[in-house]
Amino acid sequence: MRIERVERLRVDRWLFVQIHTDSGLTGLGEAGLWAYPDACDAVIATWEPYLIGQDPLRIEHHWQALYRHTHFRGGAVAGALGAVDAALWDIAGQHLEVPVYQFLGGKVRDRVRVQTQIHAAEIDDLAAKAQAEVARGITAIRITPFPPDFTVRRYDSLLADAVVRVAAVRDAVGSGIDIGVEIHRRLSVAEAIALAGELERFRPLYYEDATLPFSIQSHGELARATRLPLATGERLHDIWEFRELLVCGGARFLRLDPCLAGGLSAAKKIAAIAESFGAGIIPHGALSTVATAIDVQLDACIPNFVLQDYLGDDRPPKSDLLVENLRLEHGYLVVPDRPGIGVALKPGLAERYPPRVEAVDPALHEDGAVADR
Ligand SMILES: [Mg+2]
Repeated sequence: MRIERVERLRVDRWLFVQIHTDSGLTGLGEAGLWAYPDACDAVIATWEPYLIGQDPLRIEHHWQALYRHTHFRGGAVAGALGAVDAALWDIAGQHLEVPVYQFLGGKVRDRVRVQTQIHAAEIDDLAAKAQAEVARGITAIRITPFPPDFTVRRYDSLLADAVVRVAAVRDAVGSGIDIGVEIHRRLSVAEAIALAGELERFRPLYYEDATLPFSIQSHGELARATRLPLATGERLHDIWEFRELLVCGGARFLRLDPCLAGGLSAAKKIAAIAESFGAGIIPHGALSTVATAIDVQLDACIPNFVLQDYLGDDRPPKSDLLVENLRLEHGYLVVPDRPGIGVALKPGLAERYPPRVEAVDPALHEDGAVADR
């Protein structure tokens, strides 16, 4: 079997890759650098002459060849590799007629527990949305405890408002429901330490991206100063960055995105490194339902899986991409038993959902300074 064609497909804000073989099989993958899909697109175009004519089953060899054949690294390379690697695993699974998780050790679970995300400007609405999630069977909810139009920075109200919001959600859902507190990088290390102390009594499962991800050492510093378990890693690209995050004690939960961190090949290694540190995996789900299906292959076969993001997967356009969506039952996604990654794109997506171009439109604080996203 040989690779015949590498098809790059821009749909809405996503970049998909379909690798076609001379045996008639097609493998599907998604690139993880969602802010700059055209950068991944260009990287994959550069790799195309290498890939054409190759045996698609030599997955690790091709991974090494594409990552190491020249200089430089980062999101564009690792995101492109995320797409190509998944597509090759998808071909391998279809070729041998087994799901990808079967290659990666087999299933350690039959279904994967999901977490959803809620937003609301008003605290009553936030509490009502939390209750609605629980009513539909969801057992883990992620919240950002700030108003959606967060632009004003007053230390006191920042912390006080966050405490009120987390308290309202905990009160609304009662005990037995896990709450993840996602800060979206909005606090300094000092602010994050202060807020963590205030939030302990609400028993959040994790405290995510409390400060900017640029410094791994800052996460280690934060971890040493708080008892809340830290979650981070959605912008990390490779096994070495995750290793250093874990060595400095900066995370109890990895928000690993397989499509950004070099694909399932690298994600399985990262999960194993995390396992040795006693850290759990909560794959980051900012991409499409293709990425969710890729994540689920990993979730199915690693012992330290904790939760799977399920963010808008049941609403269009995300819900309108696949011939057959994954099944959500009582707060769990059923692990599919179809060969490969188990999903295929509907035809005509690029026409229905043309590529979306993100304008440079920074969020600003009230004084005009740039805020982080
Ligand atoms: Mg995050």
